[in-house]
Amino acid sequence: MQSAKSYRGRLAPSPTGLLHLGHVRTFWIAAQRAAQHSGTLILRNEDLDRQRSRPEFVEAMIEDLRWLGIRWSEGPDCGGEYGPYVQSARREHYLEAWRQLRDREFIYPCTCSRKDLAQAASAPNELDDEPIYPGHCRNRQDGLKFAEPAGVNWRFRVPDGEEIGFTDLNLGEKSYMAGRDFGDFLVWRRDDVPSYQLAVVVDDAAMQITEVVRGADLLKSTARQLLLLRALGLEAQIPAYFHCELLRDSSGTRLAKRHNALSIRHLRKSGLTPEGVLELAFRPSASADFSNISELHE
Ligand SMILES: [Zn+2]
Repeated sequence: MQSAKSYRGRLAPSPTGLLHLGHVRTFWIAAQRAAQHSGTLILRNEDLDRQRSRPEFVEAMIEDLRWLGIRWSEGPDCGGEYGPYVQSARREHYLEAWRQLRDREFIYPCTCSRKDLAQAASAPNELDDEPIYPGHCRNRQDGLKFAEPAGVNWRFRVPDGEEIGFTDLNLGEKSYMAGRDFGDFLVWRRDDVPSYQLAVVVDDAAMQITEVVRGADLLKSTARQLLLLRALGLEAQIPAYFHCELLRDSSGTRLAKRHNALSIRHLRKSGLTPEGVLELAFRPSASADFSNISELHE
């Protein structure tokens, strides 16, 4: 008989801006769930976006999370046995996964230009979502000729028509159809950066994460990641998923980093306590009017 794995959760912010109220909700729930399970919480710095990541945002996110009262026992600031906890230092892990996917022909090199894609692709239904790739390069069989990923885009050939389902611990049964809800997604970019999908799957498996708590904007990405986990032979390490409802302002727009007045930093400077910030973050969306805050403190 197998004993239950002990709970390992993660906080995975990107240092591309200041953490804001929207993050507070997700990270607080992640911390609560780890505590309820007497589990381990880790902090992972997801800094693969070289253009937008800044060291000062790494410092700020660590300080802001601590100020809120969130504690973790493994991370870039405190180490741990599954380190490094900084994605830019984990290239070898991603490369190994890329090689496996290339060898088993789950991925193919794509040389379509941005312009080709803009002309052919259907627009994504949601903000931030990857457009469905029209498939121009999907029958290429020359992946094995590449010793390194750099120079072309690499896409995962999704099994068209297959329903990818999972039970979300917060939002219930979810199902997405490959080829309809999402297409051949990027695994490695021509500028030599692994995609979010690949890096997260590789890291969560390597760091033995048992439950992923994140925003509901990533629900569809979970379907992509389940395909990657299967292709990499990591089925035994598929984590549980808990997607949190996104915080929206009174007009229904989801809070983003551009809402500077809603950064933890700004709210703190304007005199709010951690409890006050948490109260704001957990107000029901319908009654959340954040316009006051921006007016008062900007
Ligand atoms: Zn292409």
